[in-house]
Amino acid sequence: MRQIPIRVRLTAWYVVVFSLALAALGTSVWMLVRQRLLAESEQQLQERAATVEHFLAAQNQNLTIDQIRDELREEYETEDQVAWLQILDQNGNWLFRSHSMEQFFPAASHPGKLALRGKRWQADANHQRLLVLEKPIILGRRQYTVETASFIDGVYRSLKELELVFFWLAPGFMLIAALGSYFISKRALATVDAITATARSISDRNLDARLPLIRSGDELQRLSETLNEMLERIERSFERTRRFTADASHELRTPMSLIRTEAEIALRKTRTADEYRQALTHILSEAERTSVLIESLLTLARTDSGAELLHLHPLMCVALLRTVAEDWNPVFAEAQLTFDVAIPAAEIRVNADESALRRVLTLLLDNARKYTPPGGRVVLRAQIKPDEIEISVEDSGIGIEREDLAHIFDRFYRVDKSRSRAQRGAGLGLSLAQWIAMQHHTEIVVESTPGQGSRFSFALARLRTNPSTDIHSDLSETNKVL
Ligand code: ADP
Repeated sequence: MRQIPIRVRLTAWYVVVFSLALAALGTSVWMLVRQRLLAESEQQLQERAATVEHFLAAQNQNLTIDQIRDELREEYETEDQVAWLQILDQNGNWLFRSHSMEQFFPAASHPGKLALRGKRWQADANHQRLLVLEKPIILGRRQYTVETASFIDGVYRSLKELELVFFWLAPGFMLIAALGSYFISKRALATVDAITATARSISDRNLDARLPLIRSGDELQRLSETLNEMLERIERSFERTRRFTADASHELRTPMSLIRTEAEIALRKTRTADEYRQALTHILSEAERTSVLIESLLTLARTDSGAELLHLHPLMCVALLRTVAEDWNPVFAEAQLTFDVAIPAAEIRVNADESALRRVLTLLLDNARKYTPPGGRVVLRAQIKPDEIEISVEDSGIGIEREDLAHIFDRFYRVDKSRSRAQRGAGLGLSLAQWIAMQHHTEIVVESTPGQGSRFSFALARLRTNPSTDIHSDLSETNKVL
């Protein structure tokens, strides 16, 4: 079932909430005004009763009932204000009754019968409303009851006007609110619709497309910016993957065609056993290099997918460097290079993945061998510092030009492709080494002078068993080179 659009739901909610608020506000204002106006009328009645009390108190207490009656008539008969007034004594004798009282409440004309006793409200013969006040007055031995009233139709007229104002204004306000909320939500949601439409049109073929720029400074702007940043990241990673795949297939095609050509040439005619052996040796070495390349590609693919995880354990760093150096001694001898090892005598511990660390050293030493002409020198050095051990591989080889230095850690980057082809490097070694370094929370740094040599170094944090050890006295000892 299709949902009601958000903007309609928002508007409906807004109208319901607004109506409830208006109704609550209208009712409270109505009640407040009514209470206030009635209180004012009651106040006037109280004041009138008080003047009657004063008048009676001012009379000589020895006057007879008839004399008091005369006094009261004289005082109040002509006064317009007291249209609704009646006074009686404790024996139920009328002392005063205004004309209106007699006319409209004849039933109460018997002596002692109050017209309005017990009622706060009363309607007269014209159905006009009266507010009634009954007040007992005790003066010495005499008791009187004063009953007075006043029209309160004015109060109800004012309330009616108030109701009318509300009746006309409230729907007007509601309409404005509903239209306002409809258009605001429509405008806001139009942006969401635009974002949805663009997002729907983006696929792997147009990953460079971006969502429309919104300058509203609100959540929608943040949403579109966040989605655009996400697209940026996806595009970059997609581009990396695409380039990697293209480079990898290109790199694999070259040795495969070499193997094929070698085999085809060998099979073209009958050859001697020596010639076959020579062809097969070429094919074998090419196949071996291809395996190494495939292994590197697989490792990089695993690092990208997060499947390649290193396990860092405390290990004896100096011992590891020594075994690596021993392994490389014969290799450098065969390459006619001098291989010096400058490693401290004392042992220190680091947190590292042993085989990954060996791989980094192997990659750096192999590069030093490849890019140093015979007769040159390679040094494997370790220097212990207060908090770390710095490991470096230095060579007196061909060096690297300044503009290439920034790229040598990029995948498939080779400084001189034709020369490297001869060396059979695919440009993956340093990017793999840098990844391993980063997993060890460090970075490989390179310094190089073209024609003079290069120095690749990285530092590993020392693991301490006893933090109180005096580092400086310890350093002079540990840095003694073997
Ligand atoms: P490769 O397999 O081509 O050696 P690397 O990623 O290990 O790939 O190195 C990238 C490039 O950096 C190499 O092609 C080479 O040009 C340059 N390079 C690496 N190490 C050295 C070095 N010790 N001396 C000179 N150039 C080097």
